[in-house]
Amino acid sequence: MEDWISLGYLLSAALFIFGLKKLGHPRTAPFGNQLGALGMLVAVLTTILQMGLGDGIEWVLIGAGLVIGSLIGLWMAIRVEMTGMPELVALFNGFGGAASALVALSEIWRFIEGTSDHTQIEQLELTVIMVAAGLSALVGWMTLTGSILAMFKLKGGVSIFGKWIKTPTWGPVWLNPLKVMMVIAVAVLIYLSIDAPTNTDYLWGIIGISAVLGIVLVLPIGGADMPVVVSLLNSLSGIAAAFTGFIIGNSVLIVAGSLVGASGLILTFIMCKAMNRTLPDVLFKSFGGSGEKESLTRTKVGSDPDEVAMMLDGAQKVIIVPGYGMAVSQCQHQVKEFADLIAEKYDTEVKYAIHPVAGRMPGHMNVLLAEANVPYEQLIEMDEINPEFPDCDVALVIGANDTTNPAARSGEGPLAGMPIIDADAARTVVIVKRSLSVGYAGVDNDLFYMDKTMMLFGDGKAMMTGLNNAIKES
Ligand code: NDP
Repeated sequence: MEDWISLGYLLSAALFIFGLKKLGHPRTAPFGNQLGALGMLVAVLTTILQMGLGDGIEWVLIGAGLVIGSLIGLWMAIRVEMTGMPELVALFNGFGGAASALVALSEIWRFIEGTSDHTQIEQLELTVIMVAAGLSALVGWMTLTGSILAMFKLKGGVSIFGKWIKTPTWGPVWLNPLKVMMVIAVAVLIYLSIDAPTNTDYLWGIIGISAVLGIVLVLPIGGADMPVVVSLLNSLSGIAAAFTGFIIGNSVLIVAGSLVGASGLILTFIMCKAMNRTLPDVLFKSFGGSGEKESLTRTKVGSDPDEVAMMLDGAQKVIIVPGYGMAVSQCQHQVKEFADLIAEKYDTEVKYAIHPVAGRMPGHMNVLLAEANVPYEQLIEMDEINPEFPDCDVALVIGANDTTNPAARSGEGPLAGMPIIDADAARTVVIVKRSLSVGYAGVDNDLFYMDKTMMLFGDGKAMMTGLNNAIKES
C-alpha cells in the first residue's frame, strides 16, 4: 500500500509539472489546466487512501468538507463574470495561504492539547517543525489579509450598508521601518517558540503580527502597480503551502507549493519588468499614489462610426490596442469581426498590441482574444509592436487607457516610468470608450485630446457593432 501512495504522489507531481509546462502557450493552456486539475484529483485521492491507513479518521467531517468546498468553488466559478476574475483569483490566493497556515496550526495544536508529545521528538526535528510552522503562519496569514485588501483594491472599494467606501492607498515613509520591525518581531517569536512549542502567546503573536503585516504591505501599493502585488501574493500562497508540506511530511504539497511559489515569483518579476520597477521599489516606494483620481477639465468632441468607417477605407495597416474596457463590454467577438471585415474589404493588415498589464490580470487580453478565435500570431507583445506604430495608419484603442497614457513617459505620478503602447505614434488614433474618464491609475490621458485622435464615445460592444455595420454598408 505504501508503494501505491508514493506512486500516487509521484504521478500527481508529474501532472502538475507537465500541466505548468503546457500553460506556457495559449494554444496548449486549456490542456495544461486539465492536467493540473487531474493532478489535484490524484493527490486528493492518494491522501484519502493514505488516511485510510490511520485510525480514528472522521470520514463524515472530511466528506462534508470536500462536498461543501467543491460546491462553493463550483458556485463561485459559475457565478463570476469575466471582469470579476482578478478579484476571485486574489481571494483564492488568500484562501490558499490561510489553508496552509491552518494546517500548520493544527499540527502545533496537537502539542498544545497534549495529543502529541513534543518531548518525544528529536530536538532537530522539533526545530524544523516549529520554524516551518512559524514561517507558514507568517506567509499564510500575511497572504490572507494582503489578498483580501488586494481584492478590494481591484474592486475599487467596498459597499457597507449601501454606502460605497473607496479602498484607500496610503503609505507614509515611516511605514517601511515598521514593516521591517514586524518581520524581525515574527522571527524572534519563531525563535522563542522552538523552546516553548506549547506557549500559545508566541503563536497568537506570530499570527497577529503576520495578519497586520499583510495589510501594511499592500496598503501603500495601488494604481498601476497592483499586478505586481497580485502575482506576489499568488507566489506567497505557494510558499506557505510548501512550508506546510514540510511540517506534515507531504511530498506533493512541497512540490505543488514550490511550483506555485516559483512560477508566481517569475510572474512577479515579469510584471515588475513590464512596469519598469524593481520589487523593492514596489514594496517600499509607494508608487501607487494617493488613489485619488485626477479631475478632468478638458473636453473633446466625439466622432461617429460612419466617420471612422470612411477613414478606415484605404488604411493599409491597423493595430488594435485592447484594454480593460474590452473585458468590461465583452466585445472581443465584435473586435475579431472588425479585423476580419477590414482585412477582407480593404485588404488591411491587422495586428493586436498586447501590453503585459492590460486588463486586470496577467494574460487578460490573450484569454479574451483567444476565446474569440483571434490567431495567436496576430497578438504581438508591446516591445515588438511599438516600433511598428509610426508605419501604422490607424491605432484602434478599445477600452485601454493607462497602458496607452503618454503621462507614463513624464517620470511623475502613479504611472511614472511604466512602458506604454506607443499608440500616439500612429497616423490616426481611434479610441472606443464611454467617456473621457481616467483609467485604473486615475491619471488623465493626453492621447484623447490629440488632433489626430477620434473618440468613439460609448460602450465597447455597441460601438464596435456600430462600426462593423458602418463598414459593411460603406
Ligand atoms: P484602464 O483600467 O486604464 O482603463 C480602462 C478603460 O476602459 C477606462 O478608462 C474606461 O473608460 C473603459 N471602459 C470601461 N468600461 C467600458 C465599456 N463598457 N466600454 C468601453 N470602454 C470601457 O485599462 P488598461 O487595460 O489600459 O490598463 C490596466 C490598468 O489596470 C493598469 O493601470 C494596470 O496596472 C492595472 N492593473 C492591471 C492588472 C493586471 O494584472 N493586468 C491587475 C491590477 C491592476 P470609460 O469609463 O470612459 O468607458
